[in-house]
Amino acid sequence: MKLTFLGTGTSTGVPSIGCECETCTSEDSRDKRLRVSVIIEHAGHTLLIDTSSDFRQQALRYGLKRLDGVLITHCHADHIFGLDDIRPLNFRFGALGVYANERAWVDIKRIFKYIFEPSHFGGGLPQVIPNTIYPGAPFVIGKDLTVTPLELIHGRLPVMAYRLNDFAYATDLSEIPPTTMDALRDLDVLVLDCLRFTQHPTHLWVDKALDYVERLKPRRTFFTHMAHDIKHVRDSARLPEGVHFAYDGLVVTD
Ligand SMILES: [Zn+2]
Ligand SMILES: [Zn+2]
Ligand SMILES: [Zn+2]
Repeated sequence: MKLTFLGTGTSTGVPSIGCECETCTSEDSRDKRLRVSVIIEHAGHTLLIDTSSDFRQQALRYGLKRLDGVLITHCHADHIFGLDDIRPLNFRFGALGVYANERAWVDIKRIFKYIFEPSHFGGGLPQVIPNTIYPGAPFVIGKDLTVTPLELIHGRLPVMAYRLNDFAYATDLSEIPPTTMDALRDLDVLVLDCLRFTQHPTHLWVDKALDYVERLKPRRTFFTHMAHDIKHVRDSARLPEGVHFAYDGLVVTD
């Protein structure tokens, strides 16, 4: 299992436009965060989690050659607005399976109506094979890559976390329901939402994220979806052993 962080920033990205704070003006590449997304590679398969607003730039930077599926956490702009940019992959390999929960499909089909109800001929539309997934119901991609979607609460919105073997990706959440807590035991790697140091109504912040880490006890934890309040080197010292702020380009293997 190999996980590559394509983006680790909150919805505005970091730097934030027009901001002159210590993080936004930092020269450290680990303080430059595109919108959240990861690539997971396992058993010859390559999966993308979320087509972020920065997907095209991320795919080029990463050297993406093909995808076997796209897992969507939820339909907020920062996680989905890159969907149109799967087209070059469609041109080469045909339609691509996209996996999302019922609520996300309602929004995706509204926002990207031109994909699902084309109004004119031509123009090279994205080719999406929609798959509806349900929390706690594992599905298989390709021959044998099992993915388990798990429900998280993001303010009031139910969003999907994904577990693949001993790796789990859980972003954009304020609460982890009890059944999902049970399903996130015995992890090697947990990627977890962590917006900033102060409280937030729809995201985890450092203390609350660390509280979940304490209860779930994954071997390694990587925080993501970070705002400019978090400066990588300055603040990394504040985290306990085994817990890290992720950064764009970071690769984690088992
Ligand atoms: Zn987000
Ligand atoms: Zn800033
Ligand atoms: Zn969100």
